[in-house]
Amino acid sequence: MYVSKKASNIQASTTLAIDSKFKAMKAEGLDVVGFGAGEPDFETPDYIKKAAIEAIQNGMTRYTPAAGTLELRKAVCEKLSRENGLSYEPAQIVVSNGAKHSLVNTFMAILNPGDEVLIPAPFWVSYPEMIKIADGVPVIMQTSETDNFKVTAEELKKAITPKTRAVVLNSPSNPTGMVYTEDELKAIADVIVEHDLYVISDEIYEHLIYEGKHVSIASFGDEIKKRTIIINGVSKTYAMTGWRIGYAAACPEVAKVMANLQSHATSNPNSIAQAATVAALSGGEEEIAVMKKAFAERRDYMVERINAIPGVSCKKPNGAFYVLMNISGVKGRTIGGKRIETSDDFAEAFLNVAKVAVVPCSGFGNDDFVRWSYATSMENICEGMNRLEAFLAE
Ligand code: PMP
Ligand code: GLU
Repeated sequence: MYVSKKASNIQASTTLAIDSKFKAMKAEGLDVVGFGAGEPDFETPDYIKKAAIEAIQNGMTRYTPAAGTLELRKAVCEKLSRENGLSYEPAQIVVSNGAKHSLVNTFMAILNPGDEVLIPAPFWVSYPEMIKIADGVPVIMQTSETDNFKVTAEELKKAITPKTRAVVLNSPSNPTGMVYTEDELKAIADVIVEHDLYVISDEIYEHLIYEGKHVSIASFGDEIKKRTIIINGVSKTYAMTGWRIGYAAACPEVAKVMANLQSHATSNPNSIAQAATVAALSGGEEEIAVMKKAFAERRDYMVERINAIPGVSCKKPNGAFYVLMNISGVKGRTIGGKRIETSDDFAEAFLNVAKVAVVPCSGFGNDDFVRWSYATSMENICEGMNRLEAFLAE
């Protein structure tokens, strides 16, 4: 049957594909260990669950304003003021069905057909597809492992063309785990303002930084703030992946257009999850600290093990919960009867032979890497590393 050219040009999400393959193998009873989708293995904290139950009991079960309840938008403004030193009005906040949805709304709101959006690689797999959904053109900027996978203001300047409309920044980054410093961000902000671009600043991992601190690029003054669209959500910080709440903070014009789009596409995000998010944003310090401590220990262990195994290596990430493993030393080898030429080959052989699910970075813009998520138990990580060692010793 007929499908549109645009839709057939959109690739499926590799992260979600690996995750469902892993879950299907597990359901078959196979002894498989998963490091695929980046999803905290912690439970949503009780105080958040309680708020959701109370919301149901108190009848918060109806449509809300499309952009989210006023209460939640005020809570987001308070969060942005308290944690990021940024002043926003509720009319500048649009709450959506996850940060993923906020990002799609953003690209739909700012792009005209043919507009270019710069994305430093390795990037999170969904950005280019979202831009294509909005008729934009993703333009990939390669970064190198030796430069900690970061793009400099100078490189950004060189990549700008008359068609460039926006830049995607994701710090801490999925999949590299790298965190931009305040000085690096300031220099990038100057380029954005000078060229009158938008910056989409995906800050969803802001609370998961193990060295250094998070700075929002919007905080360097009014000129950069009005050009910044902050994307954030509760999936990672509060272990709320299934609740589907994300939000965008933008200049009033962009926020209004995003809310209009959403009012037709999905109406409001789930009313109960919104009420739970109001509670989430007002607390959670203790729970976040426990998760962060566990993630830091797992990261340290994983990095040490990987770097002790011949043929593979990784940088120590400063944030998020991913390790990018360089597999260029394995390319050309045949393992388990499979010749490894690409990251897809590696991920396929590793899953079939060792029963370990990792994400190939072919979809992340650099085929020399595979991604491990360490948002899983230390026991799983230990087992995954043992299997990696045995797999590569073949
Ligand atoms: N941005 C980044 C960088 C991510 O890794 C994710 C992962 N889910 C998202 C946005 C979207 O998160 P969600 O839709 O669950 O809020
Ligand atoms: N963002 C997570 C990841 O990269 C979850 C899956 C997804 O939304 O793509 O694994």
